Amino acid sequence: MQVWNRIWKKLNQESGFDNEPQRTVVLLRCVYLVLLIYYTIFFALMGFYSLAEEGFFRISWIAVASVCATVWLLWRSYRQRFRRNLILFIALEILWLIGFVFVFGWSCGAQQIMFVLLALVYFSFYDALLQKALFTVGLFLLRFTLFVYLQRFGAFSELQGRLLIMLQVWSSLSFFTLMGIICGFFSSNIETADKNLVLYNQLLREQASTDPLTGIWNRRHMLDHLENDMEQHPQMPFSLGMGDIDLFKRVNDTYGHDCGDAVLKWLTELLQKALEGKGQLCRWGGEEFLLYFPGMNGDEATHFLIDFLLLLNKAPFRWKSAELHISMTFGVSEYDFRSESGVMIKQADEKLYIGKNKGRNQVVF
Ligand code: GH3
Ligand code: MG
Ligand code: MG
Repeated sequence: MQVWNRIWKKLNQESGFDNEPQRTVVLLRCVYLVLLIYYTIFFALMGFYSLAEEGFFRISWIAVASVCATVWLLWRSYRQRFRRNLILFIALEILWLIGFVFVFGWSCGAQQIMFVLLALVYFSFYDALLQKALFTVGLFLLRFTLFVYLQRFGAFSELQGRLLIMLQVWSSLSFFTLMGIICGFFSSNIETADKNLVLYNQLLREQASTDPLTGIWNRRHMLDHLENDMEQHPQMPFSLGMGDIDLFKRVNDTYGHDCGDAVLKWLTELLQKALEGKGQLCRWGGEEFLLYFPGMNGDEATHFLIDFLLLLNKAPFRWKSAELHISMTFGVSEYDFRSESGVMIKQADEKLYIGKNKGRNQVVF
């Protein structure tokens, strides 16, 4: 377990360059490791089945070269930019597969690495679609040329018997594993990105519709909600109440802006508690709140607000050692099944100012 942790830590080590796709770098290193195992077993199998034949010794230089090249690539991945390392890898693998297929023939299965290269190129580079398409065509032509060549002239040391079956199985197993790792890695990347995008959109939507100080709906959200309700339930009566804190400027001037903010939050909680299940609340702006009472006529809304004012008058706000008596003035408008929401809001606002002129701390309908 400890050894595995150390290997994993080493694989995750950063190369020190800015803006590197670190997770993809780790993926590429994992690919190198799998390939190292692949080459080693490939030649162990060859050695086991054909050590006696002199051909094996003549071609064993490819084994040494493949393992050395992969170790070198792995080493370079800590000292080189990802893009360069991947291009180098692709170039070396193409050389390797040509060599293998020439020497061992089509049936050794080495040409299957082309799919691994394609997957890496398509998922790792985010731009250059034309280059990707050209690369695909190039690989196809190479594969086709190799196939035709081998059909006509045959391989240098065509695999046969048990060895052929073992190497076919081993190559297929290795390349399927590699494809599984690569596709699994990128699909989980896409899933994570999708999930993050959904969460981020949700957050943006919430931010766009809530007031940052009090956490309740802002003006825009309330207007959307109201208009949506009026459209969906055109026969539903409802009322609006526009409320404004009385002489709020004095609170700010006497106790400071922090105290003013605390009053706004405290009042929001009181209003929300009183409104629970009866209507919606939004911060219309500054120290003004708009209340929406679906299903209530103007008289009902007025009674509700008078009760709220009685409650407010009895509940002082405590700030440090001081007790503040906060009051509000409300204007109420009732839906006449004709007017637009803007007209109703204007009516409630006008009533509010009548209340202010008449001495504040009251509800006007
Ligand atoms: P009136 O009874 O006529 O409404 O008097 P008022 O003092 O409440 O009215 P005025 O419009 O003169 O002042 C409103 C004050 O509300 C001024 C502004 O600084 C304060 N205010 C608006 N938004 C905020 C806020 O988010 N935090 C704090 N602390 N004060 C705010
Ligand atoms: Mg005010
Ligand atoms: Mg005001």
